[in-house]
Amino acid sequence: MIIVAAALGVLTWTLLEYMIHRWMGHDRRFRKTPFGVEHVRHHIEGDYFAPTWKKLIVAALFVGVTIAPAIAIAGTEAGIAYVVGLVSFYGMYEFQHRREHTHPGFGPYGRWARRHHFHHHFVDGRKNHGVTSPIWDFVFGTYERPSLIRVPTKLCMAWLRDPATGDIRTEYAGTYQLR
Ligand SMILES: [Zn+2]
Ligand SMILES: [Zn+2]
Repeated sequence: MIIVAAALGVLTWTLLEYMIHRWMGHDRRFRKTPFGVEHVRHHIEGDYFAPTWKKLIVAALFVGVTIAPAIAIAGTEAGIAYVVGLVSFYGMYEFQHRREHTHPGFGPYGRWARRHHFHHHFVDGRKNHGVTSPIWDFVFGTYERPSLIRVPTKLCMAWLRDPATGDIRTEYAGTYQLR
Protein backbone atom coordinates (compact mmCIF):
# COMPACT_ATOMS: atom_id res chain seq x y z
CA MET A 1 0.00 0.00 0.00
CA ILE A 2 2.79 2.40 0.91
CA ILE A 3 4.65 1.61 -2.31
CA VAL A 4 1.48 2.07 -4.36
CA ALA A 5 0.77 5.39 -2.62
CA ALA A 6 4.33 6.62 -3.25
CA ALA A 7 4.09 5.53 -6.92
CA LEU A 8 0.81 7.41 -7.26
CA GLY A 9 2.52 10.46 -5.79
CA VAL A 10 5.26 10.18 -8.43
CA LEU A 11 2.65 9.80 -11.18
CA THR A 12 0.79 12.84 -9.85
CA TRP A 13 3.99 14.86 -10.05
CA THR A 14 4.60 13.87 -13.68
CA LEU A 15 1.10 15.16 -14.52
CA LEU A 16 1.67 18.40 -12.57
CA GLU A 17 5.04 18.81 -14.31
CA TYR A 18 3.28 18.56 -17.68
CA MET A 19 0.36 20.83 -16.78
CA ILE A 20 2.40 23.54 -15.06
CA HIS A 21 4.90 23.63 -17.92
CA ARG A 22 2.38 23.47 -20.76
CA TRP A 23 -0.22 25.88 -19.43
CA MET A 24 1.47 28.13 -16.89
CA GLY A 25 4.70 28.22 -18.88
CA HIS A 26 3.41 28.43 -22.44
CA ASP A 27 -0.20 29.63 -22.48
CA ARG A 28 -0.46 33.39 -22.98
CA ARG A 29 -3.25 33.63 -20.41
CA PHE A 30 -0.82 32.55 -17.66
CA ARG A 31 2.31 34.40 -18.79
CA LYS A 32 2.06 36.89 -15.93
CA THR A 33 2.00 34.22 -13.19
CA PRO A 34 5.24 33.76 -11.20
CA PHE A 35 5.94 30.46 -13.00
CA GLY A 36 5.12 31.98 -16.40
CA VAL A 37 7.55 34.86 -15.85
CA GLU A 38 10.35 32.53 -14.70
CA HIS A 39 9.75 30.11 -17.54
CA VAL A 40 9.77 32.72 -20.30
CA ARG A 41 13.10 33.95 -18.92
CA HIS A 42 14.42 30.36 -18.88
CA HIS A 43 13.59 30.04 -22.60
CA ILE A 44 15.06 33.44 -23.51
CA GLU A 45 18.31 33.09 -21.56
CA GLY A 46 18.74 29.31 -21.79
CA ASP A 47 20.92 28.89 -18.73
CA TYR A 48 18.65 30.83 -16.36
CA PHE A 49 16.93 28.87 -13.57
CA ALA A 50 14.67 30.25 -10.87
CA PRO A 51 16.55 30.61 -7.55
CA THR A 52 16.54 27.64 -5.16
CA TRP A 53 14.62 29.48 -2.44
CA LYS A 54 11.68 29.82 -4.81
CA LYS A 55 11.81 26.09 -5.55
CA LEU A 56 11.81 25.32 -1.81
CA ILE A 57 8.71 27.49 -1.38
CA VAL A 58 7.06 25.55 -4.21
CA ALA A 59 7.98 22.23 -2.52
CA ALA A 60 6.53 23.50 0.79
CA LEU A 61 3.36 24.57 -1.04
CA PHE A 62 2.96 21.10 -2.57
CA VAL A 63 3.30 19.53 0.89
CA GLY A 64 0.93 22.08 2.46
CA VAL A 65 -1.78 21.62 -0.16
CA THR A 66 -1.66 17.82 -0.46
CA ILE A 67 -0.85 16.46 3.01
CA ALA A 68 -4.26 16.89 4.72
CA PRO A 69 -6.42 15.52 1.87
CA ALA A 70 -3.95 12.66 1.24
CA ILE A 71 -4.08 11.57 4.90
CA ALA A 72 -7.87 11.98 4.99
CA ILE A 73 -8.27 9.76 1.92
CA ALA A 74 -5.55 7.14 2.40
CA GLY A 75 -4.72 7.17 6.13
CA THR A 76 -1.59 8.53 7.78
CA GLU A 77 1.09 6.18 6.41
CA ALA A 78 -0.14 5.94 2.83
CA GLY A 79 -1.02 9.64 2.80
CA ILE A 80 2.48 10.61 3.86
CA ALA A 81 3.97 8.13 1.34
CA TYR A 82 1.92 9.77 -1.42
CA VAL A 83 3.15 13.25 -0.52
CA VAL A 84 6.76 12.05 -0.15
CA GLY A 85 6.53 10.39 -3.61
CA LEU A 86 5.16 13.57 -5.15
CA VAL A 87 7.55 16.04 -3.55
CA SER A 88 10.68 13.93 -3.93
CA PHE A 89 9.93 13.49 -7.63
CA TYR A 90 9.46 17.23 -7.88
CA GLY A 91 13.02 17.50 -6.53
CA MET A 92 14.14 14.87 -9.04
CA TYR A 93 12.57 16.91 -11.83
CA GLU A 94 14.39 20.08 -10.76
CA PHE A 95 17.69 18.19 -10.66
CA GLN A 96 17.05 16.45 -13.98
CA HIS A 97 16.04 19.65 -15.77
CA ARG A 98 19.12 21.54 -14.63
CA ARG A 99 21.42 18.63 -15.54
CA GLU A 100 19.98 18.52 -19.06
CA HIS A 101 21.16 22.08 -19.56
CA THR A 102 24.49 21.83 -17.77
CA HIS A 103 25.82 18.30 -18.39
CA PRO A 104 25.98 15.73 -21.17
CA GLY A 105 23.22 13.15 -20.66
CA PHE A 106 24.27 10.07 -18.74
CA GLY A 107 23.11 6.71 -20.12
CA PRO A 108 20.20 6.08 -22.50
CA TYR A 109 17.68 7.82 -20.25
CA GLY A 110 19.86 10.91 -19.80
CA ARG A 111 20.41 11.20 -23.55
CA TRP A 112 16.74 10.62 -24.33
CA ALA A 113 15.57 13.22 -21.75
CA ARG A 114 17.98 15.82 -23.04
CA ARG A 115 16.91 15.45 -26.68
CA HIS A 116 13.22 15.45 -25.71
CA HIS A 117 13.72 18.70 -23.80
CA PHE A 118 15.91 20.51 -26.34
CA HIS A 119 13.43 19.67 -29.08
CA HIS A 120 10.97 21.61 -26.90
CA HIS A 121 13.42 24.51 -26.42
CA PHE A 122 14.72 24.92 -29.96
CA VAL A 123 12.44 23.15 -32.45
CA ASP A 124 8.83 23.47 -31.27
CA GLY A 125 7.85 24.98 -27.89
CA ARG A 126 4.33 23.53 -28.27
CA LYS A 127 5.69 19.97 -28.07
CA ASN A 128 7.41 17.75 -25.49
CA HIS A 129 6.36 19.48 -22.28
CA GLY A 130 7.30 16.51 -20.10
CA VAL A 131 10.83 16.78 -18.68
CA THR A 132 11.23 13.55 -16.70
CA SER A 133 8.96 11.43 -18.91
CA PRO A 134 6.97 11.57 -22.18
CA ILE A 135 3.83 9.94 -20.65
CA TRP A 136 1.58 13.01 -20.67
CA ASP A 137 2.87 14.21 -24.05
CA PHE A 138 1.54 10.92 -25.41
CA VAL A 139 -1.75 11.30 -23.53
CA PHE A 140 -2.34 14.91 -24.65
CA GLY A 141 -0.95 14.45 -28.18
CA THR A 142 2.05 16.79 -27.84
CA TYR A 143 4.80 14.18 -28.24
CA GLU A 144 7.20 14.72 -31.15
CA ARG A 145 10.18 12.50 -31.81
CA PRO A 146 13.30 14.70 -31.98
CA SER A 147 15.38 14.59 -35.15
CA LEU A 148 18.07 17.19 -35.93
CA ILE A 149 18.02 19.90 -33.26
CA ARG A 150 19.25 23.30 -34.47
CA VAL A 151 20.52 25.31 -31.51
CA PRO A 152 20.93 29.12 -31.68
CA THR A 153 24.64 29.86 -31.20
CA LYS A 154 24.05 32.31 -28.33
CA LEU A 155 21.97 29.74 -26.40
CA CYS A 156 24.27 26.78 -27.04
CA MET A 157 24.90 24.58 -24.00
CA ALA A 158 28.52 24.30 -22.83
CA TRP A 159 28.55 20.48 -23.04
CA LEU A 160 27.53 20.61 -26.70
CA ARG A 161 30.44 22.72 -27.91
CA ASP A 162 34.07 21.89 -28.45
CA PRO A 163 35.89 24.66 -26.51
CA ALA A 164 38.82 24.57 -28.97
CA THR A 165 36.81 25.18 -32.17
CA GLY A 166 33.51 26.60 -30.85
CA ASP A 167 31.67 24.10 -33.06
CA ILE A 168 29.37 21.25 -32.03
CA ARG A 169 31.43 18.38 -30.59
CA THR A 170 31.90 15.68 -33.21
CA GLU A 171 29.97 13.05 -31.22
CA TYR A 172 26.83 15.24 -31.41
CA ALA A 173 27.27 16.53 -34.96
CA GLY A 174 24.64 14.19 -36.43
CA THR A 175 21.95 15.14 -33.94
CA TYR A 176 22.62 18.82 -33.11
CA GLN A 177 23.59 21.77 -35.32
CA LEU A 178 24.28 25.45 -34.66
CA ARG A 179 22.13 28.12 -36.30
ZN1 LIG B 1 9.09 25.46 -21.95
ZN1 LIG C 1 14.87 23.85 -20.04
